[in-house]
Formats: sequence, C-alpha cells, structure tokens
Amino acid sequence: MKFTFVTLFQNIVEGYFQDSILKRAIQKEILHVAYINPRDYSSSKHNKVDDSAVGGGAGMVMNPQPLFDTLNELKVKDKDVHVIFLTPVAKPFKQNDAKRLANKPHIAFVSGRYEGIDERVIEKYADEVFSIGDYILTGGELASLVICDAISRNVDGVLGNSDSLSVESFETQLLEAPSFSKPENYENNSVPSEYLKGNHSKIRSLKLALSECKTKFFRPEQLLKHRTRKSYEK
Ligand code: SAM
Repeated sequence: MKFTFVTLFQNIVEGYFQDSILKRAIQKEILHVAYINPRDYSSSKHNKVDDSAVGGGAGMVMNPQPLFDTLNELKVKDKDVHVIFLTPVAKPFKQNDAKRLANKPHIAFVSGRYEGIDERVIEKYADEVFSIGDYILTGGELASLVICDAISRNVDGVLGNSDSLSVESFETQLLEAPSFSKPENYENNSVPSEYLKGNHSKIRSLKLALSECKTKFFRPEQLLKHRTRKSYEK
C-alpha cells in the first residue's frame, strides 16, 4: 500500500517512519511512502503557496494554483489515488474508516497550513475529508500521520500478530479491558486474582465486566450503543 503526503513540511512527517512497526513495514515493502511539496509546483516568482483571504479575515490561506498543479499531476500518475484532506471542519476519523481505507492501494493526504486551504481545491480533489478531533492544530501533518498509522495497522502483514486487532477498543462498542504485564505483584499491587487462575471462561467474563465498567466511565454513549445492539440481537 502506498501513502503520499502532500505537505510543505516533509521533515515533520518523515521522522515518524524511522522507527518501530511502520519502519519495518516499509523495509518489508508492505508500505511505501512518498512526499510531494506543493511549493515545488508554485508558478509565482518566490514559490509562494499562500495569500491573504479574499473577503477579509485574519491570516493567510493556501492558494489554489500550487495545489491544483500538484494534485493534477498526482492524478495523472495514478488515477486511482484516494485523496484525503485534513481539516477540522470535517467528520471525525473513526476506527471503521481505518479498516475500510486499509483496502485502498494508494492514499494521498493533503495537509493544510496557515488558516487552511482554498475551498476550491478541496471541492475539486477531495475523495474524503477528515478531522481528528475538536481542536485546532497548526497543520495537517500530525493529523495525516494519525490517520496513516491507524490505517497501516490494518494492512495485512504490518502487525506481527494480527490477532491483537480483533480484541482492541472500537472493534465493538466496548473499550478494551485493562491489560497487565509481569510481574503479577508489583509494589504490593496485584493483577486481578482471577487472571492468575487459568480458568479461561471466567477470565473472559471478568474481562467483559471490566470492559463494560471502563466504557461506562469513559464513554457512556458507547455502552448505550452496545446494550442497544445486544438487545436487538436477542
Ligand atoms: N482556520 C481553520 C479553521 O478554523 O477551521 C484552521 C486551520 S489550521 C490552523 C491549519 C491546518 O491544520 C488545516 O488546514 C488542517 O489541514 C490542519 N488541522 C488543524 N486542526 C485539525 C484537525 N482537528 N483535524 C484535521 N486537520 C487539522
């Protein structure tokens, strides 16, 4: 699977792929990462990529020409590339988006900077737009990395043990039960004793109960969805 980052700040993005799971996936050629800088496509004298907002308003906006030319060329090279724009005004990115998008052969992330991107670029080129949450970042690079990481974990071969995907939070409406590692007792804090007894059916029911408690505390609306779904299934 290929990811292309359309960004003015390649350095910010590159570092993330220099360690751990995604680095290995690139070495194994499961993932491929490319970068395009819209500044290289600017036709202005000083390679400008932004201008003041038409109609007034604070700050600068990324202007259409460099991005039109960048994305035109990207589409000519690969007409099937799936273009995602990062913007705080879009729908929030979710785990089921990560799973769905893991089947795409090529995704391009377009990161805004300044006060954002001229809307005409988004209207012409976006296959999808995503926000990663209700807050404002200085640029779309972190948001694209968040989404790229979440998608990559769902690409075959990226995780050493893909079984871990099926029990994670957001696979169902419930959050994952608390996890513990060794030693079983650390500074007088023991893991739940049931976890130590080896009765797998009891461990499963305890995990489900803990999972429901966590969901009730942190995400009550998710627990409600879970219970509604269960009652439909009966
Ligand atoms: N003026 C914009 C607004 O109020 O909606 C915010 C622009 S923000 C400073 C610059 C860029 O950061 C955006 O174009 C977008 O690419 C990215 N960005 C900021 N917050 C984001 C979020 N929550 N999710 C996704 N992208 C975000």
